[in-house]
Amino acid sequence: MDLLIRNGTIVDPVMGKFTANIGIKGHKINLVSDQETEADEILEASGLMITPGFIDIHMHESEVKNDTANREMFEYMAQMGVTTAIGGNCGLNTGLKNTADYFNLLEKDGIPVNYAGYSGYCFIREHCGYDRNSPLDYPKLSKLTPLIKNDLDKGACGVSLGLEYNPGISTEEMLWVGRLVKEYPGRLISAHYRYDSNRSLEALAELIILARETGVPVQVSHIGSCNAFGRMTPALDMLDNAVWAGVDISADVYPYNAFSTMIGSAVFDDGCFESWGKSYNSLLVAEGKYRGLTCTEEIFHELRKQAPETLMVAFVMDETEVIEALKHPGIMIASDGFLRSGQGHPRGTGAFPRVIGKYVRDEKQLDLVEAIKKMTLLPARRLELSHKGRIDQGYDADLVIFDFDNIIDQSDYENPAVPPKGIEYVFVGGKAVVKNGSYIGGDNGRVIRFGK
Ligand SMILES: [Zn+2]
Repeated sequence: MDLLIRNGTIVDPVMGKFTANIGIKGHKINLVSDQETEADEILEASGLMITPGFIDIHMHESEVKNDTANREMFEYMAQMGVTTAIGGNCGLNTGLKNTADYFNLLEKDGIPVNYAGYSGYCFIREHCGYDRNSPLDYPKLSKLTPLIKNDLDKGACGVSLGLEYNPGISTEEMLWVGRLVKEYPGRLISAHYRYDSNRSLEALAELIILARETGVPVQVSHIGSCNAFGRMTPALDMLDNAVWAGVDISADVYPYNAFSTMIGSAVFDDGCFESWGKSYNSLLVAEGKYRGLTCTEEIFHELRKQAPETLMVAFVMDETEVIEALKHPGIMIASDGFLRSGQGHPRGTGAFPRVIGKYVRDEKQLDLVEAIKKMTLLPARRLELSHKGRIDQGYDADLVIFDFDNIIDQSDYENPAVPPKGIEYVFVGGKAVVKNGSYIGGDNGRVIRFGK
């Protein structure tokens, strides 16, 4: 063995909690046993918990700048135990013309965690010059086909939709995208719904139709910011009923009661405050010249007009409903993280340790093994990553080693980039990226190209 991790408390989503040694050879787990074995390196882990590396099925990668892969988001991911990050969500992407170029760039520059990415549909649509509010007919849609197919041919894990950001996308257009993705077995659609709050159930119904009519697996993005406005119970019931009827649909949630996005987006169009039952003062400016200020009517309109890219945080959701989603057995935990130069929402640096420290340990809202399963095996199965999400022989050596009594997120809305505490080691493909509690970096992550 290259490495033997001794006497840790393993938390495996299938076998539960037990104490054993883990032997790693190359990038694989080669032994899980109470036996001792020879190894080049020994890591004593007694008193610590070891889980599979977290798979963040919904994050946002940093924008490419000056033709280099900006590692900011991947570094935050590694520090909170994420070993596989799924980007390209919400219809957005990295600012590169196509996903394939981005994959090549990551492979050239190296990344600290594994990465898979969706083809961002809204990005492609806008890139072709189509207005976000206008529906497209079939001749116009056919211009998009080669771009989407190219991304899927080069290994994108699916296509992401941002219906709320591009309201011009009709249900028919959405079904057209679904049929296209269906030609690629194992690929998904991740969908940022069309409406939140008072129209959220209607929005969810549309996504159930998408999965049912096209047969493509649909992953509903961050269900908290869609339904935690008094409608989480019926939303989860709707999803359960669809699943029981054989529809391939699931969802993820991030453990916060505030969402974050750019102020220029359609999310903040007229009527948003009425539907949330909130006002301008429920928003916090997360970057730019008003950073840290509570929003006012004047600031809101000025930024919408003059700095529409500005990230905002909106405290508009009900925490008990976010917890309800966290506890639901079918819902995965994801970060939806996005920070730019250290500014943004703390979920991008704290989501996973927050669930373990706050909702499992302190508040006992959910069981540890259940929570770990929602961060590892559930997303692994959803993405058909058959060598990830468990601690067992033959699985990839992506691991998180943490102190259960100490693990907690430390980032907040004022200081969103502070790394969590309590995470002692993170291994990606058998190599440490976090060691003795500190991020040491690395480039052992791989781009996971689907269909390859
Ligand atoms: Zn989204």
